[in-house]
Amino acid sequence: MVADLPVGQCLHDHPGYYNAFALAPGYLGMTPAVGSLLWTASSEAVGDELDLHVTATHLLDGSLSPTGGAIVLAAALVQPESRGTITLASRNPKDPPIIDSNFLGTGRDARRMVEAVKLGRDIARHPVFAPFSAGEMIPGDAVGEGTLAEVVGANLAVYGHPTSTAPMGSPTDPWAVVDSLGSVTGVHGLRVVDASIIPEVPSATTNLTVIMLAERIFQRAFAR
Ligand SMILES: Cc1cc2nc3c(=O)[nH]c(=O)nc-3n(C[C@H](O)[C@H](O)[C@H](O)COP(=O)(O)OP(=O)(O)OC[C@H]3O[C@@H](n4cnc5c(N)ncnc54)[C@H](O)[C@@H]3O)c2cc1C
Repeated sequence: MVADLPVGQCLHDHPGYYNAFALAPGYLGMTPAVGSLLWTASSEAVGDELDLHVTATHLLDGSLSPTGGAIVLAAALVQPESRGTITLASRNPKDPPIIDSNFLGTGRDARRMVEAVKLGRDIARHPVFAPFSAGEMIPGDAVGEGTLAEVVGANLAVYGHPTSTAPMGSPTDPWAVVDSLGSVTGVHGLRVVDASIIPEVPSATTNLTVIMLAERIFQRAFAR
């Protein structure tokens, strides 16, 4: 043992749900139907949190739709409070690790996730949007208020933004693994600079944040 650090104990990621609609026959030309993002506050947001995304995407093969075209209103909770874990399955580096995202690990997260899906459904049923839709495919109109939470919880998607498995913090933070320049606590000459050191997942997609982090640490640690 070189350093006993809480690696993998604060995994943070965005849970999502693909709310899918068949495109109306007159609007199949919308495929791929990408291009807008609603970024807003849930009814349980605290302060200036913008904790929900609803993104119009083409992430469903049109051949799965009865009309030959589909649009997804992808709902995501982008300021979750639940934390998951990643642990080694064995000492063999070729064994995949054990990842527990612990999505919707709190009641507040579960309620906000459902709120995001309802927001997407409201948009799809709005008179402005409705002409483009030939009906909801997933979860489908049969899934109403009473069962929506259960269906969403059982069919979550990942937004693909895992962070915080080697979080940046001060020496007194019990959850910290690296300092503000990515140096691993107690291990001389080892730096981590990637999404894992972001202490809390940002309420946005993470690629630009990682690039910013890398450029900033390079400038502070190495640039003369
Ligand atoms: C499906 C998907 C879609 C996404 N879409 C978006 C998006 O639209 N916009 C956005 O902002 N973010 C998006 N993200 C998130 C974004 O891609 C990540 O947050 C970001 O790439 C993380 O950067 P990273 O440097 O931490 O890891 P990575 O980009 O994963 O880089 C890790 C690198 O290490 C290499 N590697 C691994 N093992 C070894 C080894 N043993 N030796 C040498 N090299 C190794 C890998 O090949 C890889 O190149 C998406 C993520 C996923 C999974």
